[in-house]
Amino acid sequence: MKNYQSMDHFWMPFTANRAFKNAPRIIERAEGVWLHNDRGDKILDATAGLWCVNAGHGRRQIAEAMGQQAMKLDYTSPFNLGHDIGFEFAERLVKYTPENLNRVFFANSGSEAVESALKIALAYQNARGKGGKYRFIGREKAYHGVNFGGISVGGLTPNRKGFGPLLPVDHLPHTLDLSRNAFSKGLPEHGIEKALELENLVQFHGAETIAAVIVEPVSGAGGVVLPPIGYLKKLREICTRHDILLIFDEVITGWGRLGAPFASQKFDVEPDMITSAKGITNGVAPMGAVFVRDEIYDTVVNAAPEGTIEFFHGYTYSAHPVSCAAGLATLDIYESEGLLERASGEIGEYFEAALHSLKGEPGIVDVRNCGLVAAVQYAAPDGSLVGPKIMQRCYEKGLSVRAVGDIIAFSPPLIIEKEHIDQIVDTLGSIAREMF
Ligand code: PLP
Repeated sequence: MKNYQSMDHFWMPFTANRAFKNAPRIIERAEGVWLHNDRGDKILDATAGLWCVNAGHGRRQIAEAMGQQAMKLDYTSPFNLGHDIGFEFAERLVKYTPENLNRVFFANSGSEAVESALKIALAYQNARGKGGKYRFIGREKAYHGVNFGGISVGGLTPNRKGFGPLLPVDHLPHTLDLSRNAFSKGLPEHGIEKALELENLVQFHGAETIAAVIVEPVSGAGGVVLPPIGYLKKLREICTRHDILLIFDEVITGWGRLGAPFASQKFDVEPDMITSAKGITNGVAPMGAVFVRDEIYDTVVNAAPEGTIEFFHGYTYSAHPVSCAAGLATLDIYESEGLLERASGEIGEYFEAALHSLKGEPGIVDVRNCGLVAAVQYAAPDGSLVGPKIMQRCYEKGLSVRAVGDIIAFSPPLIIEKEHIDQIVDTLGSIAREMF
């Protein structure tokens, strides 16, 4: 029974509104790895929502913690007032972050975390008398959310086109290279030299104008683009050499997606800031965060006279008490179920082997993976775009996936079991044989 007459009023985000409203896909409830739609179908959620429901759907522990917090303290201003759960959550979060990133700036989404990180970078450069360092370096194919800072450093044309002028930014080349790296398991072997482009950009613009470099360690929304072996370390070296901050956008790669709390630990590279969101609350409550190197916080805070606001930035809902409660309960689950490491164990190996068994199926030109994130890339013989059609066929066959052009992306809940992985592979194989 629907409580609305028309779909006209909800302008859906990143959605073909007219097509969707003509053929809606309505999800009524979700539990574990399953979505249940309004037609009574059970659909495997092979993307953990939007790369966020890492511990699976319907976790009672999280819902109860949120309800209790809402009854105790639903909201109070985070400006000049505080609440225990904000401090408790920040202290708990930094147990998982790299060694020197112990300060947390709270936002409400990945996009806001990115904006906050970019502004922290500028505040830091100003605070230490290097206000001439105002430029950012992003990367092609990058997705850093949808706000103006994020689309400036982002590298996806449709998200930028028509929204200019943007911030002063230059872009590194992306690292996707099927000619050398197709069907690589884990990190691709070739492409470390793409990091050297940063050296060229630094020479071109001058290090004295560059505040920070921001990259996703593994880019998700750009089509699951993996860093070649040694690439991230090389970026770190170049940034350090030129006194440029390095920001890892770990909105997707954080919270166990790659088999470690963060990609930083997985790849053993420590950035100066990490942006986080999504899995930080298992996707149940909006929350974003920037994890900041201690020295950055100290520099910004100590530059302002005692008793004055040091950083003119923040959100009404920064450290929202109900989101903090969701986050604490989420961390309890990650810990008690060993989810942050699970992707680097047997299930990650099974996922890799199963997806790579699709090599040789018609239309499939690449399979790539790391931990529990993967992509299968297609090329239709006639060159037409097939990703959206494959996504639709998957849904009809009980599998929810994400299409990025001709790339189908997977980021299943970290609780996924082998039989679910088998379902993913069987569905993809049968669709490839039907379509090509
Ligand atoms: N950064 C990255 C790497 C993302 O993948 C996303 C979302 O997918 C964002 C930022 C934006 O997050 P949000 O949609 O919560 O604003």
